Amino acid sequence: VSSGIKLVALWLSKAKSAVVFTGAGISTESGIPDFRSPGGVWTKYRTVYFDEFCRSAEARHEYWNQKTEAHTAFAAASPNIGHQTIAKWEQSGRVRGVITQNIDGLHQISGSKDVLELHGTAREAYCLDCDARFSIDPLVEHFRQTNEVPLCADCGEGRLKHATVSFGQMLPEKTLERAYQWCQEADLVISVGSSLVVHPAAGLPELAKRSGAKLVIINRDETGLDSMADMLIDGSCGEALAAIDAAL
Ligand code: NAD
Ligand code: ZN
Repeated sequence: VSSGIKLVALWLSKAKSAVVFTGAGISTESGIPDFRSPGGVWTKYRTVYFDEFCRSAEARHEYWNQKTEAHTAFAAASPNIGHQTIAKWEQSGRVRGVITQNIDGLHQISGSKDVLELHGTAREAYCLDCDARFSIDPLVEHFRQTNEVPLCADCGEGRLKHATVSFGQMLPEKTLERAYQWCQEADLVISVGSSLVVHPAAGLPELAKRSGAKLVIINRDETGLDSMADMLIDGSCGEALAAIDAAL
C-alpha cells in the first residue's frame, strides 16, 4: 500500500465531517461511459438546450430519442466497489454523505442515503407543467414502442422531461445550498472521478479547500484542481477507494 493511501486513510479516520464528491469517472467501472469517452452516447448527439425542449415538439422528440438510447447503459449498470465503499463509509459514520454530478442513481442503489444530486437524476421524469414526478422505465418503454414522447398522466398534456439538469437549466437550488453548506463545514473532501472543470459543481471541492478542508483527488487524468490538492491519487477510482478502506 502506498504511503499516500495510508495517509488518506488516516485523515479519513480522524475526520469529523468528511464529504465525498463524485463525477462520471466513478461509474465507468460500472460500464457507463464518462463525458469524454470516444463513441459514448454523450458525445454522439447534438445537445438539446432547455429552451428548445420547452418550445419545440421536434426538439422534445430528439431529446427522448437520445435519452432512450442512454437509458440502455443505465438500466444494465450496477454499482461497483467504489460506490459500495462510499456507502459503507456513510453507514459507519465516516462520511456525511456524497455530493455527485452523476445522474445514474448508482450511489443510492449501492446503499448511500444522503446523496446530493447536483445534476438531477435520469431515473425519474418530471412534468414541466404540473411538477408531477414519474419513474423513468415505463416512459422509456412507451417511447420505444410508440416512438412518441410520453405526456403527463397527472395533468393530461404536460411536457415530460428527464429529471436531469439540461444545458440552459439551473441546478436544483436546495440541493446546491446543502452542498455549499457541507463543503463549508467539511474537514476532508475526497473527489472521485471528476475532471473538476464543470461549474458550478467543480467549485464545491474548491470551496471546501478554501474553508479549511483537506482535499484528496482520485482521478486517472489531470483535473482542474490538482494544484490545490493535499493528495493526488492517480489511478482507478474503485481500486483507490478499496485500498483506502483496507488501510483504515
Ligand atoms: P468528466 O467526464 O468531465 O470527468 C470524468 C473524469 O474521470 C475524467 O477526468 C476521467 O479521466 C476520469 N475517469 C474516468 N474513469 C475513471 C476511472 N475508472 N478511474 C479513475 N478516473 C477515471 O465527468 P464529470 O466531471 O463528472 O462531468 C461530466 C458531466 O456529464 C457531469 O456533470 C454529469 O452530469 C454528466 N455525466 C454523468 C454520467 C453518469 O451519471 N454516470 C456519465 C457521463 C456524464
Ligand atoms: Zn403534468
